[in-house]
Amino acid sequence: MLATVLLAQGIGILVIAMIPIRAIIQQLPTGTTRNRWKILSGFIGIFFIGYILYTILMFHSGIPTTPTELVVPFIFFFGAIFIYLVCSLSLKTTEDLRRIYILEQETITDPLTGMFNRRYLDRRIAEEFQRAMRFVQTFSIFLLDIDHFKIVNDLYGHQVGDAVLQKLGHLLMASVREVDVVIRYGGEEILVILPNTSKENAVELAERLRQQIETTVMVAAVPRQPAINITVSIGVAEYQFSDGWDNGQKVVERADKALYRAKEKGRNQVLVSQICDESG
Ligand code: GH3
Ligand code: MG
Ligand code: MG
Repeated sequence: MLATVLLAQGIGILVIAMIPIRAIIQQLPTGTTRNRWKILSGFIGIFFIGYILYTILMFHSGIPTTPTELVVPFIFFFGAIFIYLVCSLSLKTTEDLRRIYILEQETITDPLTGMFNRRYLDRRIAEEFQRAMRFVQTFSIFLLDIDHFKIVNDLYGHQVGDAVLQKLGHLLMASVREVDVVIRYGGEEILVILPNTSKENAVELAERLRQQIETTVMVAAVPRQPAINITVSIGVAEYQFSDGWDNGQKVVERADKALYRAKEKGRNQVLVSQICDESG
């Protein structure tokens, strides 16, 4: 009797263990880890068949009653509990890690535009310096500022201004490479880090983006409000080995100076930081 109860419960627990496994498989993206969990669920299926076969054999050959005979049903029972505990703990760990990841993303994301926020900049610049030093690579950044954005806010209101920022953010994030990092540096200033990119290539990209922004309708026309277009000024700077790896500010300062000159020269243009202002 005891042997039958232990085996029946073991079979039930194995079935229940499939619930957390299915949840884990559903949460994982397609790839090796997901496939391994599928293989593991296949093994549990084999265990399940083994439990059923042993139960049938047990009924044929006589139900165990002595302590020695009961060892196997006990092992089957605790084996099933072990499998269930491992599966449910794995699900809990997966969910906790997901939650931590989402929270971490929230602390480094700008809620209005979906770009990274300034908190992420220092960390990311330090990483780029380390990569540049280790692999003797360069990287560039550009700083983009909307021209006369105050006028958009004054004429059409802050909400329309926000919509322009959102559209600009989407446009930039969709236009750069996956490795590039788009950061909302200030109110309407956006900083883009371009790993492993010379300033010549950075200027090329910045110019392409400038033209794309100029010709894109940021907010469609509605009654009593025309379609809104904007232009941007961009300052480009490349990492110099003389910056040292612990001074991320220098390259940002150079891009800022180039941006300032672009504004002075009449806006809606890309200017690159030259050696002459790199010393200042
Ligand atoms: P310039 O060509 O010299 O850059 O002129 P500008 O008017 O863009 O520059 P300024 O720095 O004087 O003004 C920036 C404006 O950006 C002022 C501020 O109201 C607006 N702004 C900053 N952050 C936000 C935001 O989150 N939403 C909206 N709607 N406006 C913002
Ligand atoms: Mg501006
Ligand atoms: Mg500004």
